Amino acid sequence: MGKTLVIGAGGVSSAAVHKMAMNSDIFTEITLASRRKFKCDDIAAAVKSRTGVDIRTAQVDAMDVAAVVALIRETGAELLVNLALPYQDLKLMDACLEAGINYLDTANYEPEDEAKFEYHWQWAYQDRFKAAGLTAILGSGFDPGVTSVFATWLRKHKLATIRQIDVLDANGGDNGQAFATNFNPEINLREVLAEVRHWENGAWHPSPAMTHKVEYDFPGVGPKNMYLMYHEELESMSTHFPEIERARFWMTFGDAYIMHAKVLQNVGMTGIAPVMHDGHEIIPIKFLTTLLPDPSDLGALTKGKACIGDIATGQAKDGSGEKTYYIYNICDHEECYAEVGSQAVSYTTGVPAMIGAAQVLKGNWSKPGVWNMEQLDPDDFMDMLNTQGLPWQVHELDGPVEF
Ligand code: NDP
Repeated sequence: MGKTLVIGAGGVSSAAVHKMAMNSDIFTEITLASRRKFKCDDIAAAVKSRTGVDIRTAQVDAMDVAAVVALIRETGAELLVNLALPYQDLKLMDACLEAGINYLDTANYEPEDEAKFEYHWQWAYQDRFKAAGLTAILGSGFDPGVTSVFATWLRKHKLATIRQIDVLDANGGDNGQAFATNFNPEINLREVLAEVRHWENGAWHPSPAMTHKVEYDFPGVGPKNMYLMYHEELESMSTHFPEIERARFWMTFGDAYIMHAKVLQNVGMTGIAPVMHDGHEIIPIKFLTTLLPDPSDLGALTKGKACIGDIATGQAKDGSGEKTYYIYNICDHEECYAEVGSQAVSYTTGVPAMIGAAQVLKGNWSKPGVWNMEQLDPDDFMDMLNTQGLPWQVHELDGPVEF
């Protein structure tokens, strides 16, 4: 159905490219390009041995717009899937506009020297994508991504309005490491240590990172402590579903993770500003990332399950009053590893990236402009979650959340 260029060859990319190869009727030709070509070649070899499909590989610096445009033209790709880092989003959107192809990513743009998670930089491309007749899909991972599609599906089929929504991300996986992050350590720590904000009654309410803790009994995972956090879908959902009175995001962390993160922050190891060390300028969080385990190596070590979903309350579509639904997926780390050689965090991001890309190639999400996931029709995406390894369940709860 279409030629695809994937940029970035880390944990998420490996899972996404495996799943694209498993859907070769949609992804007829795949090129994988990244900063270091050997990482692309390693993924291509794994895909070939698991699926028999050949992937083309290339070296490219995503910050070099001219080089990306040349690669797009050489491959004839009609869609660029950005699975590199959030720092590259704007350059890759520029390259897509110049080469005249569609764009999709899984995380919103962040300036490297500011840990700010805001959509305005990417939303500012709306008129240019519209005028060019091209589509840009923002945040097609699990959170953001599936969590917005879940909310949209509830709003299409169950709830006329959403009064309040809580996104709950539980990872019950154990990788046996003293301290490791499940996706890129630099991006993960910037996000986890950022000031918390939640949306309530038309305003953002700030609080310090990792302070507001609640125990919740997650389906498939069991009881875990979850912490209030800021996450980018809070901005897009509260913008696109303006009736939302309260939107919050929660993520589980074990005590050991919290202790390590706080110590590293307290001693300055998570700093993003350059410091002089031994006559050389270094950025502490980049040095720390070099020391920490590579999340794409954790697949074979991780056991347990993850459960991510939304609890939403609003007026029922059928006029039966206020209802609360919990919609979620449970994903098993070892099953993901057996299927594509990745742990569940890479899998739960890579599979929705593939499904979002499939929506563009199938023509379901081809409206010109820049779109967040909750602005698009959820039905085929939700069907593909069920058939592509991330089956979901929806249950009515007795009433709104009490935490
Ligand atoms: P990794 O660090 O494992 O992979 C990133 C890849 O991008 C690496 O291969 C890296 O190259 C490559 N890269 C970095 N800079 C450049 C550049 N300038 N040019 C070309 N390639 C570059 O990250 P993950 O796979 O863990 O995460 C990928 C993305 O997914 C991130 O944006 C992350 O925020 C997002 N994510 C989204 C989630 C969601 O649910 N929405 C959840 C988890 C992650 P090299 O190998 O040379 O370092």
